[in-house]
Amino acid sequence: MVQHANERVAYHNGEIKPESRVLVSFRDRGFKYGEAVFDTARTVRHKPFKLEEHIDRLFRSMRYLQIDSGLKREEMLSISHEVLERNLHLIAPDEDYWLFQRVSPGVADPFLSDGEARPTVIVECTPLPLRARAPLYRDGVRVQIPATRRTPPDAVSPRAKTQNYINLQIADREVRAQDPQAWAILLDHDGNLAEGLGSNIFFVRDGELHTPRARFVLPGISRETVIDLAGEEGIAVHETDLDLFDAFTSDECFLTSTSLCMVPVASVNGRRIGKGGLPGPVTARLVEAYKRLLDFDFVAQYTDKL
Ligand code: PMP
Repeated sequence: MVQHANERVAYHNGEIKPESRVLVSFRDRGFKYGEAVFDTARTVRHKPFKLEEHIDRLFRSMRYLQIDSGLKREEMLSISHEVLERNLHLIAPDEDYWLFQRVSPGVADPFLSDGEARPTVIVECTPLPLRARAPLYRDGVRVQIPATRRTPPDAVSPRAKTQNYINLQIADREVRAQDPQAWAILLDHDGNLAEGLGSNIFFVRDGELHTPRARFVLPGISRETVIDLAGEEGIAVHETDLDLFDAFTSDECFLTSTSLCMVPVASVNGRRIGKGGLPGPVTARLVEAYKRLLDFDFVAQYTDKL
């Protein structure tokens, strides 16, 4: 099969090939049972940011699901670098990529015992949706809290990044049915704030940061980055139970995610957060620290596309 000049390539079970040739069996357990893990790093000026941390989290997710990719950490790293290198010519200098690793146990099924015991491993990249998300930095995110609760950690731990996003998708659809631009942040089964489809949440009150405990959420790499930066800035951070009272009485609120780094929240369930413009002073200070860490203005990368 011919590769189109503008077609990206991806790694699939030992081979780097055009994306259109990456085909997964309908009997793959990732498809049949949602039994798979993934992780997502981003590039900053075409270089991966904290890729090792993302790969470490991928390996923890694999251990939780007892999936063996058959690859060592260093191999997964070098494959990720290679896939990225081979696709960089397809994006503009002011764009960046999401870089994904996806692993399932493959088609072998313990109930049927006739499959081939070979995991499915895919490493792929796709451009960040810069233009679509640019308005979030100008207007702030409208957060809505759905009635759907986050999967409790005693059922499936949210600390693993599994390929099964049904809980988060249902919550997101519930919210978007009411406000197509809103982002869902789910409550956990105790009524405390947890996380969204692809983001962690922080609140600022009296100059200090508050974020849900890692037991109930994916420990985001950007969440960790903000916690580290706050430490360097002398801003206290509390990882604690937070409910709607905390949300409504906060001075500032922001989300963190790999693609967005940090983005201010304008409102929670329609209630405006804070008094002044966006971002608030503590959020702005951390955004500046994040930019210094990256040596890159990630906000301008988005807002230049407005
Ligand atoms: N929670 C969930 C459920 C996610 O999928 C993500 C995105 N990976 C996050 C939080 C944010 O994590 P990170 O900062 O590592 O992107």
